[in-house]
Amino acid sequence: MVKQIAILGSTGSIGRNALQVIDALGPGYQVVALSAHTNVQLLAEQARRYRPAFVAVTDTDCAPQLGKLIADPDVEILAGPDSLADIAQLEEVDIVLAAVVGAAGLPAILAAGRKGKRLAIANKEPLVIAGELLRKETEKNGGVILPVDSEHSAVFQAMQSGSPEEVKRIILTGSGGPFREATARDIQNATLEEALSHPVWSMGPKITIDSATMMNKAFEIIEARWLFDMPVEKIEVLIHPESIVHSLVEFVDGSTIAQLGEPDMCLPIQYALTYPARVAGIARELRLEEIGQLTFAKPNLDTFRALSLAYEVARAGGTAPVVFNAANEAAVEEFLAGRIKFVSIVEFIEHCLNKHSIKATVSLEELLEADAWARREVTELACSV
Ligand code: MG
Repeated sequence: MVKQIAILGSTGSIGRNALQVIDALGPGYQVVALSAHTNVQLLAEQARRYRPAFVAVTDTDCAPQLGKLIADPDVEILAGPDSLADIAQLEEVDIVLAAVVGAAGLPAILAAGRKGKRLAIANKEPLVIAGELLRKETEKNGGVILPVDSEHSAVFQAMQSGSPEEVKRIILTGSGGPFREATARDIQNATLEEALSHPVWSMGPKITIDSATMMNKAFEIIEARWLFDMPVEKIEVLIHPESIVHSLVEFVDGSTIAQLGEPDMCLPIQYALTYPARVAGIARELRLEEIGQLTFAKPNLDTFRALSLAYEVARAGGTAPVVFNAANEAAVEEFLAGRIKFVSIVEFIEHCLNKHSIKATVSLEELLEADAWARREVTELACSV
């Protein structure tokens, strides 16, 4: 049986890697739908190469240009924010690879989960914001969530060595980003250039900034909490600059199982597509003798306030995670545009969390409402500095 894949966000870094992985997997895997927000040039190029039945562009203004560029009667073009959900729910789709930046992909992922699809989730926001809802709805309808985030893919793989009740701790590793050795004082005047120079992973600007603030790791704590249904007290973070050990699971008998590999997103992408099978692919081979040494350290919680906030947010639940995420997205945008300081990102997030009155019950509507509130709050704060 050929597996039909819809890629939400095919022009981004994960999307492009996924297409390479699919190329290498051969005829057993087919691209049935692709989507992008505005990059119609690349989307059209991908459409000509992979001949998907559907192509979606979420920015409606870009649709006419995309139509001209593709000019293929066999490719149906959809436009607008809702087009993501349309392609994610297609009857012929087996696997939805969700790699849309931020929270924008959530309604589409939730819809696909309710149709019992396999969800390969690359961006963490949907799990951070609506992890519980997403997991319940997907499981109830016979679907499955496969993490593509490298740490969670590692945890998912290690978890297969025991049962969930036998897990003592989940240990998420993180490179520590460009400010790994910085003090809280050092990062006061961090520049955009410094924050964008990640030592190990080459990623888009939003996620690179998230890694500099360690908001990325903060989100991963919450993501792991929902993905693996583990109390947040059992989830820890370990700094590991080489990014070879992608995460670990300690079991009650004292055994710790880790997954190792070169820092290369192709491996977690491929595993999410082929699971439970393992097949030869394009991921780089790991040569530990060439690396020689692996190092580990505890994170500095004074520099990385985001980590402490993550535990508070995970415990609070309800609308707290959506505020945590939306405030971050808005603040990172302000920082990338040069309007606020690096340290203001986490300060603004903390301000929003303190001001927000958490709602315990979460419908999609309430989540979107809290999301919009936090974004407005950050914009106002940025204007007042
Ligand atoms: Mg990660």
